[in-house]
Amino acid sequence: MRGRSFLRLLQRPGFLGAFLFLATMGLAAALAWQAAGAAASHRAAAETSLAHHATIAAWRFSREGRSWIGYGMSQAGDMLQQETSRLAELPGPELLERILAEKECDCMSAGFARTVFLLRNQPGAPLLTRGEPLSERAQDALAGAARSAAADTAARQGPRQWQIMAPGQPRLNRASDVVLLWKVGDRTRGVRGVYGMVVEPAQIARPLRGALGEAQFFPPSLIPARVADSLVRIEVSGPNRERLFEAGPDTHAFMGTDTLGAVFGNLIVTAAIAPAAAQLLIVGGLPASRAPTIVALLSLTLAMGVAALLLLRREYRLARLREDFVSGVSHELRTPLTQIRVLSELLQSDGFHSEAEKNRATGVIHREALRLTNLVENVLEFARLRRPPTPRPSVPVSLAELAHEVAESFSPLLSAQGNQLEVVVTDDLTVSGDRDAINRVLRNLVENAVKYGPTGQTVRVAVSRGGLDGAALVTVDDQGPGIPENEWSRIWQPYYRLDRDRNGSAGGSGLGLSVVADLMRLLGGRAAVAHAPGGGARFTVEFPGATLQRSSP
Ligand code: ADP
Repeated sequence: MRGRSFLRLLQRPGFLGAFLFLATMGLAAALAWQAAGAAASHRAAAETSLAHHATIAAWRFSREGRSWIGYGMSQAGDMLQQETSRLAELPGPELLERILAEKECDCMSAGFARTVFLLRNQPGAPLLTRGEPLSERAQDALAGAARSAAADTAARQGPRQWQIMAPGQPRLNRASDVVLLWKVGDRTRGVRGVYGMVVEPAQIARPLRGALGEAQFFPPSLIPARVADSLVRIEVSGPNRERLFEAGPDTHAFMGTDTLGAVFGNLIVTAAIAPAAAQLLIVGGLPASRAPTIVALLSLTLAMGVAALLLLRREYRLARLREDFVSGVSHELRTPLTQIRVLSELLQSDGFHSEAEKNRATGVIHREALRLTNLVENVLEFARLRRPPTPRPSVPVSLAELAHEVAESFSPLLSAQGNQLEVVVTDDLTVSGDRDAINRVLRNLVENAVKYGPTGQTVRVAVSRGGLDGAALVTVDDQGPGIPENEWSRIWQPYYRLDRDRNGSAGGSGLGLSVVADLMRLLGGRAAVAHAPGGGARFTVEFPGATLQRSSP
């Protein structure tokens, strides 16, 4: 049961097309989704790889930085040790100033010191300072830091012989100042005191600059050292985010961090890699965003799908029109043929009682034969117009003469419907062209006027000069229902009939006006429809002025 209703649904016109269209769009969307996902994960993988490179760069710089700063600190520590070991009493903080001023290495110098200090490791010993005075709070903080350094007696040799305190730890006059501490003493006397100095960030920046020159951020086979400097940004800051050192391009693209370690105040190293490095570090570089391409392809697919649907709809309409045409033509043929057959049989068997009846019968046969001829000629002309063009004879044609001729040939039809046909000739004009074609145009227009107009109407055929270039105009007016304006462009299409006439009593093929339009194009003119002044339809055909001539002087 369900299967049958599905089959019926499938057979409904347009359903299959719409289903295929939706399925294609769904498929295209799914593919686009897949492609977008693949592109995004490709990009994410590339970005992660760059972030890893940044972490390695930060680690390499930290290693180099530790060795540069450590070298300067150890040297200063050794000199302090030498100077004080033979003295019974530790000299004041000026000793540190003197030592650093004499020191050959420029990685540590007294030039950046704001305040130097000494805390003798004796109970109640005060913090002795020289240089920029410190606030009481800062002095207490420094004394506390020096005291706890002195208390750390585990090893006076090695890295713990000295220590760096990051900005903000302890809190000093300025948030960016750094404290350097050196312990002096020996095995027998223990830690005798702690020398130290408060320095500006430049003190630390100097060895870090040296480290920058030495650090190898990437494998040289991938990126040579001189290029690497322009691709990596290095920042060193304290745990309080106070920046002590920065170098390299202005980029924050792919970042990695490392720390210098506890002895170095846990200073944080951040490395950022410029996107330009992607080309050198990742095969194929950083993948570009695929979104615009995917959106463009999806839109294209949608546009093509819509175009296919429109074509399908046109095909479907055409098929329906053709069906209407076949049934219309069959109907058109059957009725007159039956009439002709019945009446001619009656004539043959002398079945009419009076002469008048006989005359009426021959009149009907004539009329119906005329309509059949017109119908067949239209079908043949329509077929001919669809074949490759063949030359048509061009002769001078008097439009007034032709109009009268057409009117004459329609007189049996006209009188049967009680119609009047008026030919009004304002200008007696002659045009050059295929006489048969012009004849067919006028016949089709007059036939429609008679067919769709009411009984007793007056059909008016007028020949005049008009238009901008003085073209010859032939208008055919009737008093019928006219043509609604929204149908003016469609009635010229083959097989097209107004809804009201599709099942009406006036049969037709839907070819008459399409033949008119095609023939007028061939003749170099055009056809148009409008409202007739007295109601009804007005059809105008226009023959261009270039072929216009006066038929009589
Ligand atoms: P048909 O064989 O149906 O007359 P045509 O191509 O000549 O085919 O005309 C197309 C349709 O235009 C007709 O079916 C009819 O609906 C409409 N039509 C044509 N001429 C007239 C007219 N003079 N008055 C009203 N409707 C007309």
